[in-house]
Amino acid sequence: PVREALSNLNDKIRVCVRKRPLTGKEKEKGEKDIVQPTGSRSLAVMEPKVKVDMTRYIEESRFSFDEVFGEHADNTQVYERTAKPLVEYMFGGGNATCFAYGQTGSGKTYTMMDTHNGLYIQAAEDLFALLGQPGNQHLQAFVTFYEIYLANLFDLLNDRKKLFAREDASQNVCIQGVREVLIQSPEDLMSVFEYGHGCRSTGSTGANSDSSRSHAILQIALKDMSGRRPVMHGKLSFIDLAGNERGSDRGDTANKQTMMEGAEINKSLLALKECIRALDLNKRHQPFRQSKLTQVLKDSFIGNSRACMIATISPNTANSDNTLNTLRYADRVK
Ligand code: ADP
Ligand code: MG
Repeated sequence: PVREALSNLNDKIRVCVRKRPLTGKEKEKGEKDIVQPTGSRSLAVMEPKVKVDMTRYIEESRFSFDEVFGEHADNTQVYERTAKPLVEYMFGGGNATCFAYGQTGSGKTYTMMDTHNGLYIQAAEDLFALLGQPGNQHLQAFVTFYEIYLANLFDLLNDRKKLFAREDASQNVCIQGVREVLIQSPEDLMSVFEYGHGCRSTGSTGANSDSSRSHAILQIALKDMSGRRPVMHGKLSFIDLAGNERGSDRGDTANKQTMMEGAEINKSLLALKECIRALDLNKRHQPFRQSKLTQVLKDSFIGNSRACMIATISPNTANSDNTLNTLRYADRVK
């Protein structure tokens, strides 16, 4: 009960874990579910192992987080305990970021960007309910959607046009020429999102990435329109991170491209961890510049900012190494 009481929805940083159910395919293969939530904030991973003398045993690893969602939790429950407080925070003028971190196939996109009730769409429903309230008539919502692949930015709302991030004189980061779309309803956001999502695997540049190898960043900016120029009021970002697995896990033959991708992803995820930790410690000097991801998210790690990370994990034996890596990373973020 004491630990429960310490879980605070309004913490500056929240680190949650979500376990997905076994897929039909995994069941067919006879795979076992080795991840067991042991409370609303803890879980155990039970890895079957074999000793040199061939005796079998189970190696158990226990972890605790701000919140653990088991396979029965739906996106609505996850939303209530992760992104919902961030919507209110944005209205209060804050900069909020929600990350999905985990290996490919563990449920990042399902959590963040599922078309029916991904976190982003539920957030939009609350956002427009709040915008409709008296006292908020001066605010409008704008969306940008881009991806980072091999340290390059591509505008998903503009045919994957290559973008460049710059720091202005007062060291604010801006992404030059990024397409920003005014949205006036959750349906608007959904159609903008679907358009951009389609751009993740197509586009005229030819340089198409496997979407699991890129970070997708969907940002909703609330702007105060009452003055001569729009003024940034608050921001909410949904980030579907690149898969954290090693290249060799993906069955790829090691080629230069996949090695470069893996190195770049690794670098950005390490920098991300450091920046989130620094946010919690209110550190002045943070390693933004160590990756493109943390550079473009700079304003999410300073001042009036909050972050929620949802580490998604697969439950099956074959993915145990990735699952443990994800849990260890998430453990170190906070
Ligand atoms: P990722 O984006 O991490 O690569 P996906 O979100 O695409 O993974 O999920 C992989 C598969 O597992 C998809 O078919 C998805 O529908 C399913 N899935 C993921 N999480 C859940 C969940 N919590 N409940 C049910 N199905 C899920
Ligand atoms: Mg995905």
